[in-house]
Amino acid sequence: MTDAIRRVVVLGGGSAGWLTAALLAAEHGGNDAQALQITLIESPTAPAIGVGEGTWPSMRETLQRIGLSEVDLVRECDAAFKQGSRFDGWVHGRDGSDGDRYYHPFSLPQGYGEADLVGGWLHASTATSFADCVSPQPHLCDAALGPKQTSTPEFAAVANYGYHFDAVKLGLLLRKHTIDKLGVRHVLAEVTAVLSHDNGDIAALQTREHGDIAADLFIDCSGMAALLIGQHYGIALRSQQQVLFNDCALALQIPTTDPNAPLASATISTAHAQGWTWDIALPTRRGVGLVFSSAHTSDEAAQAALRRYVERSGGPAASDLPPARLIRFTPGYRERFWHRNCVAVGLSSGFIEPLEASALALVELSAAMIRDELPANRADMDLVGRRFNDAFEYRWARIIDFLKLHYVLSQRDDADYRRDHRCTGTLPERLGELLQLWQHRAPFRNDLFRIDEVFPAASYQYVLYGMGFKPAIAAPRPARLAQAQACFQSAATATKRLLGGLPRHRDLIQHIHAHGMPSR
Ligand SMILES: Cc1cc2nc3c(=O)[nH]c(=O)nc-3n(C[C@H](O)[C@H](O)[C@H](O)COP(=O)(O)OP(=O)(O)OC[C@H]3O[C@@H](n4cnc5c(N)ncnc54)[C@H](O)[C@@H]3O)c2cc1C
Repeated sequence: MTDAIRRVVVLGGGSAGWLTAALLAAEHGGNDAQALQITLIESPTAPAIGVGEGTWPSMRETLQRIGLSEVDLVRECDAAFKQGSRFDGWVHGRDGSDGDRYYHPFSLPQGYGEADLVGGWLHASTATSFADCVSPQPHLCDAALGPKQTSTPEFAAVANYGYHFDAVKLGLLLRKHTIDKLGVRHVLAEVTAVLSHDNGDIAALQTREHGDIAADLFIDCSGMAALLIGQHYGIALRSQQQVLFNDCALALQIPTTDPNAPLASATISTAHAQGWTWDIALPTRRGVGLVFSSAHTSDEAAQAALRRYVERSGGPAASDLPPARLIRFTPGYRERFWHRNCVAVGLSSGFIEPLEASALALVELSAAMIRDELPANRADMDLVGRRFNDAFEYRWARIIDFLKLHYVLSQRDDADYRRDHRCTGTLPERLGELLQLWQHRAPFRNDLFRIDEVFPAASYQYVLYGMGFKPAIAAPRPARLAQAQACFQSAATATKRLLGGLPRHRDLIQHIHAHGMPSR
C-alpha cells in the first residue's frame, strides 16, 4: 500500500454506490497523474434493492455537482417533483379528508427565525393549521401544482422541491453517467473474499470474475449484506428497535390508469393500526408500501392492510393485486461507520423506516464528507474517520428522535402498536427533554445547532403543531404579534399568487418530456 490515497474501490452498484462514486469522481477524478482512480464493483447477480423513491431537495445539488441533467432525470427515471410529505390519520386515526391531515413541506415557514410564528399562530384564534398559515406549499400540494414554471431553469425552484423517481431507472441513469461522463471504472464481479494487510487494513477484494482488486480506501455500499463493515470487520449494527419497532416493509407498484389525472407532489404517508403506508406518485405508476412491526402484525395481516389501502385510494381491487414484496430489516445503525481504511455508506451503514425519506439524504451527506475531507494519506485517514463517525452518529440519533416524534404525539388508541410507541421507556432521552422544554416555548435553532442538521427546528415545528401538540406559550407582546401576523399575511399573499401562477404538476412533467427545460 502506498501512503497517499490514490485508489478508491466502491463496493456496490445501488443508489449509494453510484452516487458516492459520482460525487467523488466529479471532484477528484480525471486523467491527470493526481486524479483519484475510482473503481465500482457490482455483483452481476445480486440486484440493488430497487426501492427508495423519494428524496430531499439536497438531491438537486447532488445532481448538479455530478453534472446530471434534470431533464434526463425526468425523462429517463419517470421522475416527478416532491414538495414534502403529507401525513394522514396520524393524530386520531381518522381519514385525512376528515381533518386528520398535516404537511411537512420542504419550504421554511415565512419569517422563520425572525418572527414569533408559533406564539403568533397559537394566539391568532384561527382554525388554520400551522403549516397552512406559514407556508404556501401545503396549498400547492393540495392543488396538485408543480413547484416551478415551465420557464424556470433546471434545478431552480419557485417552491423548494426534491424528487420522486423509479429507483431502478435512476440506478441505470447514474451508472451510465458515472461511467461515460465521469470516468469511473466499472467491474461486474462477485466479491468472494477480503484480503488484508498485516496491520488489518483491507488490501484488496478478491473477485470471482476479475481477480484481486486493490485500493487504498474501500467504500462499502454493499447494501444490507454490509460485506466489509459488517461481515469482514464485525462492526455491529446498533439496533434501535426499542425506539422504532418497524422491521418489515411491503412494496408494490400500481400502474396509473388515467394519464391526465392530477399528479401528487408530496409523499402521502397514512397511519394504520398495523403500521403506515407510503404512496409515491410517479407519472406512470404509484409506488406504495406498508411499513410494520413483526412483533405486532403478521405478514398476512400486513398484506391485507396494504391491499385495503390500495383499493380505498383508487387502485385495483384487493383481489386483483399480486402479493407485495416483503423486505425485512433490523432498524439501526453501525457502531462505527468508518473503520481502518473502510467506510460504510447507504444500507450497509444502517437503515431505519423510511418515514421521512432520510436514507438517500444520508448517502449524499456521507459521500460529500468523504469527498470534502478525502484524507491525503493513511495517517490522516484515522483522524478523518473519527470526524466522520462523530458526524454520522449524531445524525442518526437526530433522525431517530425526529421519526419517534411522529409516534409519541399520536392520540390513536386503536392498537397496541400505537400505544406501545408512546411508552415513556421507548422515548430517546434527548427527545424527552426537548419535549418538556417545548411545552413552554417553540423549537428554535439552539435545539438543533449543528451545521447541516438533518432536520432543522422548522421541521420539528411542522410536525409538533401538525400533530396537535398544544404548548402553554404566553401571547407575544403586541409588536411581536403584529410581526407574526404580517408573516401570515405575506404567506397568504404568496399562496394566492402561486396558486394562480404555477402549472399543474402533471402538465409541468408533460411539458418537460416534450420540450425540456431552460438550462441555468
Ligand atoms: C422499503 C424501503 C423504502 C425506502 N424508501 C426510501 C425513500 O423513500 N427515500 C430514501 O431516501 N431512501 C429510501 N430507502 C432506502 C434506499 O432504498 C437506500 O438507501 C438506497 O437504495 C441505497 O441502497 P444501497 O445502495 O445502500 O444498497 P443496495 O441497493 O442494496 O445495493 C447493494 C449493492 O451491493 C452489491 N453487492 C452486494 N454483495 C456483493 C458482492 N458480494 N459482490 C459484489 N457486489 C455486491 C449489489 O450487487 C448491489 O449493487 C428505502 C428502503 C427500503 C427498504
